[in-house]
Amino acid sequence: MSLVKSAEDREGYYGEYGGCFLPEILTSTIEELRHCFDECKNDPTFWAEFIALLQNYSGRPTPVTYLENLSKHLGGAQIYAKREDLNHTGSHKINNVMGQGLLAKRLGKKRVIAETGAGQHGFATATMAARFGFDCKIYMGAVDVARQRPNVFWMENLGAEVIAVQDGQRTLKDAINECLRDWVTNMADTHYVLGTACGPHPFPEMVSYFQSVIGREAREQIVDQVGRLPDKVYACVGGGSNAMGIFQGFLDDKDVELVGCEAGGYGPGPGRHASRLAYKDASVGVAQGFKTYFLQNDDGNMLETHSIAAGLDYIGVNPILVNMWENEQVRFEAATDDMVREALQLVMRTEGVIPALESTHAFAQVILEAPLLGKDEVILINQSGRGDKDIFTVADAIDDKHWKEFIKQKAVEYGA
Ligand SMILES: *Cc1c(COP(=O)(O)O)cnc(C)c1O
Repeated sequence: MSLVKSAEDREGYYGEYGGCFLPEILTSTIEELRHCFDECKNDPTFWAEFIALLQNYSGRPTPVTYLENLSKHLGGAQIYAKREDLNHTGSHKINNVMGQGLLAKRLGKKRVIAETGAGQHGFATATMAARFGFDCKIYMGAVDVARQRPNVFWMENLGAEVIAVQDGQRTLKDAINECLRDWVTNMADTHYVLGTACGPHPFPEMVSYFQSVIGREAREQIVDQVGRLPDKVYACVGGGSNAMGIFQGFLDDKDVELVGCEAGGYGPGPGRHASRLAYKDASVGVAQGFKTYFLQNDDGNMLETHSIAAGLDYIGVNPILVNMWENEQVRFEAATDDMVREALQLVMRTEGVIPALESTHAFAQVILEAPLLGKDEVILINQSGRGDKDIFTVADAIDDKHWKEFIKQKAVEYGA
């Protein structure tokens, strides 16, 4: 795997993006983590241990499925999906948390902490902590705690303590601050499990490394099934971890086009979406420990973001992907909520699969582009997760009156 670094090859920089901007007190902890990750990366027994864990616990390898009906319906390219939705806990997030669990064990840590917005990463981290026997604290904005009752319920029943953060706007940004505060206080025995390929070095590279299992498998599987490499690979991009995961299987293949699909929300314009690169509403800045494109105003204050998919609703983006974008190694597009709503219904009805709303952004872009391609061309989509968790949002979005009524009743029964 060859990640493109800056000319001077400053550690943790990709072009001018990335780096490590943390309070000085965390220097020794982050150094310790960097050192441990470097050791593991160069130790083939570590990768073997990681793979065995995922095979026996999470159901890897996940299959690649030929979406024959959807391909026929669109009348263009042949479409395949890498099925990360079939992982334990329902998405690719388990790959990263299990990897970081192994690192935390090597580091002799007893306790893990994480921050979560939609709750999916908190759920995966609480699962990992239960399996490894770590104490676990999950920070979540109080507004998100109220919005994501089912995930909070499961995290608590998996043995994690969920802290509802009451500062600021009481959402993800405030949870991140609180989680960092905990890390500073308890760094000796605590590992901070970052949920996506963002934040200070080594997290963008480390999370990408654990997610690279997706691309390694997918490359082999598609060549096995089709007899050649795909022409295009699509992945949705929140922080960028599932995209980095699948793209890494094809970085050295010049003829494979990589396409990142961001959350276009209501369409272009500040505050209306969560697209950092496809729309031109973001700019370069330093926040949350690293340098990248952020959705921010001229004063460096972060903008409100919107997406139908909570997992894509994030202000920053992986610095490796930004560097690849500048070097024209990856194309960025954005799918709007409306496109996603339509795409989800089409995919469900033609193929009987229910992709997560996040993953459906990649499907939506493919639905636009596949009909323009020849029948002999091959598309691979990373289906990053399953849509079960989205039942309330989807029922609301497709305006299903029967389900809306049913869900309202259930919410009362569950005391939400
Ligand atoms: C969290 C999540 C994402 C977005 O995160 P990335 O780091 O960009 O992959 C995408 N899909 C699913 C199913 C998720 O849960």
